[in-house]
Amino acid sequence: MEFEPVIGLEVHAQLLTEAKIFCGCSTKFGAAPNTHTCPICLGMPGVLPVLNRKVVEFMMKMALATNCRINPECNFARKNYFYPDLPKGYQISQYAHPPAEHGWIEVENNGDKKRIGITRIHMEEDAGKLLHDEHNPTSYVDLNRTGVPLIEIVSEPDIRSAEEAASYLRRLHETLVYLEICDGNMEEGSFRCDANVSLRPKGSEAFGTRAELKNMNSFRNVQRALEYEIKRQQYILEGGGEVVQETRLWDDTAGVSHPMRSKEEAHDYRYFPDPDLVPIQIDEAWIEAVRRGLPELPQAKRERFVRDYQIPPYDAGVLTASRALADYYEEVVRLSGQPKIAGNWVMGDVLRLLNEEKGDIRTCPIRPAALADMIKLIQAGTISGKMAKEVVEQMYRTGNTPESIIKEKGLVQITDEGALSQTISEVIARNPEQVAQYRSGKEKVFGFFVGQVMKATQGKANPQLINELLKKMLAGG
Ligand code: ADP
Ligand code: MG
Ligand code: ZN
Repeated sequence: MEFEPVIGLEVHAQLLTEAKIFCGCSTKFGAAPNTHTCPICLGMPGVLPVLNRKVVEFMMKMALATNCRINPECNFARKNYFYPDLPKGYQISQYAHPPAEHGWIEVENNGDKKRIGITRIHMEEDAGKLLHDEHNPTSYVDLNRTGVPLIEIVSEPDIRSAEEAASYLRRLHETLVYLEICDGNMEEGSFRCDANVSLRPKGSEAFGTRAELKNMNSFRNVQRALEYEIKRQQYILEGGGEVVQETRLWDDTAGVSHPMRSKEEAHDYRYFPDPDLVPIQIDEAWIEAVRRGLPELPQAKRERFVRDYQIPPYDAGVLTASRALADYYEEVVRLSGQPKIAGNWVMGDVLRLLNEEKGDIRTCPIRPAALADMIKLIQAGTISGKMAKEVVEQMYRTGNTPESIIKEKGLVQITDEGALSQTISEVIARNPEQVAQYRSGKEKVFGFFVGQVMKATQGKANPQLINELLKKMLAGG
């Protein structure tokens, strides 16, 4: 029997607000343990949470960017469970009345476009972090993260392969980063994903029993964990067994997952509306104000680049990988008027140099204006494409303008016909044998002459001009 995977993803994104969701403590990552805490986020008795308005606006941005409907009213609920990283004994989350629902995003796999539904987006507070000592039977708790704002984005079970899951996650991730509401750092836990997987016989409608996977901290890990889980369930089902509903932890080093706990049901959490927080009302005017503040999103940007700059979709994808890179590219285009050539230089040498030197496009020593100048110098024939490679390298190392590098290195291309004709006559005079060969029809010798002229000019002659003049002069002109 052939099985089909059914996958739904729950993504937690940490929001880039300065303050936590219900108190004024800092959300900055990496501070000394328990220094970003106060009675509110420590869950002391009698304290009252106050909602950070920015959190609602950030949630609305993501909701609008993923085509969700924003509900006019939502509220917070307490999700009760006991764990040492949760001092209050409950997490403030949203349950029965979420703020955003019924969205979708489009993913593309091997050229096929498909919509993945987004069930809901809601706001909640993060829990603290437990640090387990490998050598001692001791665990430490750091509550700096307690109360850091999160949005949870829940997908419909619309995903049908591990690869599709990875594409969906990349789309969500780039959208959050473009919106500047999440730093997207997966290693630091700013973007976390739980994956729900089940299998069903191909062609059947009903879903099978699912397992939930946790602890995957890169796109690649998610894909590997899902591939493993699909195989594991397939093996069970083919052997006539039954998949049990449980939560499993992915172990990336071993490349396997282990059962963590049997799956709890929603009623185990005894959700109820948080009596300390009033319902949130979101009116049309607020939604419109947030909508007006949305930046151009990656997909729209890619489409515009293909349309307006006539560059291939692949190039548009690379050049819109971040807002900063796209802005950089657009500035080079604006100043040089050469979208295709600008794209080649940015995707080629600029990205290669940044990659090698672990640089950031925002502080790239080659400024867009300098790169545009260099493109103009190639177009004007002042330097050859080959020389430009060297110039760009120097621009990166020194931050100097292309003009000053060209002058300093004596790189100017010889485009003066008189001077070049002189060199060519000398080359011709020195090689009578090859001239005779050429004139008797051995056209291949032409390359030899080009090489000789290049050598004589130390590679500085304009290749097109060499070709032109050589042809004329060899023909006896
Ligand atoms: P919970 O909150 O208990 O994890 P939800 O109903 O909110 O459960 O679903 C969580 C995720 O699991 C959603 O992304 C949903 O699409 C997905 N999901 C639900 N049922 C299945 C299933 N049978 N197989 C795969 N994914 C599923
Ligand atoms: Mg879940
Ligand atoms: Zn606090």
